[in-house]
Amino acid sequence: MTPSHHEPFADQVGQLIADLYRSHDGLSARAVALADAAAAAGNTRWADLARLVVADVDNRNGRADEGVTLARRVLSATEDRVVRAHAHAVVSGGLWRVGDNDRAVRHALQAMRMLEEGDPLPVRADHALVLAAMVNAQRPGRISTEEFEVAQALAEASGQPSMIIVNLNNWAWCACAAGDLTTARAMVARLQACAESTGTQLSSSVADTVARVLLESGEFDEAERMIVYAAEQAPTTDSDAIPAALITLAEIQYRDGDWAGGLRTLDRCRAIAARNGVADTAVAALRQIAVGQAGLGDFEAAYRTMVEFHDAWTLRRSQQSELVARFAHAQFAVEEFRALAERDPLTGLPNRRGFDAGLQAALAAAEPVCVALVDLDHFKQVNDTYSHAVGDDVLRSIADLLGAVPGVAGRQGGEEFVLMLRSGLDDAVRACERLRHAVEAHEWQDIAAGLSVTASIGVAEIRPGEEPSEAMGRADALLYAAKREGRNRVRA
Ligand code: GH3
Ligand code: MG
Ligand code: MG
Repeated sequence: MTPSHHEPFADQVGQLIADLYRSHDGLSARAVALADAAAAAGNTRWADLARLVVADVDNRNGRADEGVTLARRVLSATEDRVVRAHAHAVVSGGLWRVGDNDRAVRHALQAMRMLEEGDPLPVRADHALVLAAMVNAQRPGRISTEEFEVAQALAEASGQPSMIIVNLNNWAWCACAAGDLTTARAMVARLQACAESTGTQLSSSVADTVARVLLESGEFDEAERMIVYAAEQAPTTDSDAIPAALITLAEIQYRDGDWAGGLRTLDRCRAIAARNGVADTAVAALRQIAVGQAGLGDFEAAYRTMVEFHDAWTLRRSQQSELVARFAHAQFAVEEFRALAERDPLTGLPNRRGFDAGLQAALAAAEPVCVALVDLDHFKQVNDTYSHAVGDDVLRSIADLLGAVPGVAGRQGGEEFVLMLRSGLDDAVRACERLRHAVEAHEWQDIAAGLSVTASIGVAEIRPGEEPSEAMGRADALLYAAKREGRNRVRA
């Protein structure tokens, strides 16, 4: 499918999205002009996608509040699947930049899942790039290459050098942070080759990564040349690129024993970071300032700065969600990539057949096994009051919540889900009660203002020697008892 033959705006919007990774110079103005032209031509999909580029530029330049607000407005006003998917991606990018990583990953997953083969390639590549970077940035220890490979294939298919380069950049950065210098160097070599063969100038954040990898490899002179280019000449994309490059420059100056020069660089870094509203980089700079003060022998100042750093860092961390949940979502994302083909395309959960296979395997292990049927309450009203697209978003979020239950979840069909829990009935009921509460307490406002969702659940244990279908039958009867008794409850 080549929509560009029929859609005069497709190539131009694709180029805008690719340029998010190349240079932000004049990008918002181009996006606004294109949005107006597309709207005037009655082409709302491309108008909305162009407006989302404006939101994305805001997100990447210290105006995440505006970016997220605009993206949410687009999300709530359209039924177009591709636009909704992209709005989720842009919301995700904004949340990530304000430190709400947990919700950022959820939105990024949503964006990734909603697109299909045949959808515009730059949009698909963008979503894969974002998700790969997020999943790997929050994974402690070894990086997972699968997401980077998926993003790489899509970036290459889109034919956009800036996207190819940035994905390799993210890959190199994560590998370097995980201590895998061999992979980092290989990715840097690939991105430099791509930049050279396509005549693409490295942006400041890419040049910063290259300098960082050179620095770790002991190539100080090369690193310094690259970082000066990053700070002074390179086209800039995200507004934390220059402050981040200045931190790298200070580290290079420190290695040369130039503590005072490094500290001056970090003052510049803090000033720009404050102006650009990039809190994380400002915090990272504090730590390096303490190192420089200690290098000059002023241990009292170094100590005070370390305390300041610690408080600022703790504040940033407490603004973020807890690590364990974030890691669970990162794992979940990996699963997504592996088993996309065997799953229900809407929610990514195993379909009924996949679920039954898992159930048979669990029964063979002779553990106590319970099954639960989960049915959303008055779901028809959600579709009727909001829209079918909002209903679909709800189903995807329910799939996320089911992913947090210790067991195996599947989509039975429609708004009904099945759960297998490897435990006795009491523990299963407790897990279902937690799920019921999680559904009720979920921030449905993210999907539509005023939306609330609850679920009713029936749970039954598979007795020894019994067919799973018999326990399913009991769970079904219990589910309907829960409905009759007023919904939003668990019955066992
Ligand atoms: P109850 O509390 O009794 O379960 O009420 P309900 O409205 O949830 O139950 P009912 O079975 O009457 O309606 C289920 C609705 O689920 C009807 C159908 O439109 C909707 N539905 C089924 N599959 C999908 C889907 O894939 N996407 C969306 N958006 N809606 C779906
Ligand atoms: Mg229902
Ligand atoms: Mg139903």
